[in-house]
Amino acid sequence: MNELLEIDDLVVRFRVVGMTKALLKGIRDPFIDAVLNVSFDVKEGETFGLVGESGSGKTTLGRAIIGLAPTKSGSIKFKGVELTTLGDGAFKQYRRNIAMMFQDPVASLSPRLTVRSLLAEPFKIHNMRDRDLDAEARRLLEMVGLNDSFFGRYPHELSGGQARRVGVARALSLEPKLIIADEPTAGLDVSVQGEVLNLLARLQSKLGLSYLIITHNLPVIRHVSDRIAIMYLGRFVEYGRTEEIFRHAAHPYTRALISAVPQPDPDLRREIVKLVGEIPSLANRPSGCEFHTRCPFARTECRESIPAQREIAPGHGHRCHFPLPEPEADAA
Ligand code: SF4
Repeated sequence: MNELLEIDDLVVRFRVVGMTKALLKGIRDPFIDAVLNVSFDVKEGETFGLVGESGSGKTTLGRAIIGLAPTKSGSIKFKGVELTTLGDGAFKQYRRNIAMMFQDPVASLSPRLTVRSLLAEPFKIHNMRDRDLDAEARRLLEMVGLNDSFFGRYPHELSGGQARRVGVARALSLEPKLIIADEPTAGLDVSVQGEVLNLLARLQSKLGLSYLIITHNLPVIRHVSDRIAIMYLGRFVEYGRTEEIFRHAAHPYTRALISAVPQPDPDLRREIVKLVGEIPSLANRPSGCEFHTRCPFARTECRESIPAQREIAPGHGHRCHFPLPEPEADAA
């Protein structure tokens, strides 16, 4: 499979204190790094999952890819074209290839627009007014299992599942190659979650789409992703093929996230790593391994030096000084 999206050593930095206030208060570093040294790619037709708790930087990373968060350094390439240095006009053209579905199916739709207007809006933004907008809206609704009886409804008149389908239809409007879906099943009943995931899978096989799925929901990510990356305080702490990560999570944070999910598989039930405390503030990064304040295996070295990224199998890497052994080795 060819690479569609390539991210290399990306840093997303926000100023959190104004220049004057920083000077007056003697604040030496008025910035926070919400994404730090992140590298990965998404291939054509692939689903890549970003996992982590709230505050891990996964949504910021998704927003940076579509130009909604400031990149400080690093590279974002789409089909080999560097996006971070494109001017506004050229970026807008490439931006059509990448759609984003935001969290909260109802709140992510403008409350003042009807479904028909919501679906017509992307064509207007991209000056494609020559299209038959009724026909386009009807076509998009059919793709997501709805019909034009929804044309006159406002978002608050839709169920969560219907709103999510409209969100998917809107994302499809400009025929993107990649859809970034932020918590695509959040706020939905379990049965509706399944319907939405099945819809995304059908659209992927029909249209050859790639997905970057952002979620804290491990069962969802395991179900849909080919590969995943686990984020903590803006860094990838582990990445690899989904099944390999679930079978052999080398990083204690990954193992803790997996432990927190009820497992029907007895092999996965053996290993319990408990996650204690809250994720630290980005403005107050712990020294060394940033997970050491919550890690049950932390040692002196963990507090003093940042773990380098290491690969333990082709495409499976982590950032931990003392990676966990494979579950089979534990049992021996
Ligand atoms: Fe835990 Fe140390 Fe590994 Fe960090 S480097 S995850 S603190 S064992």
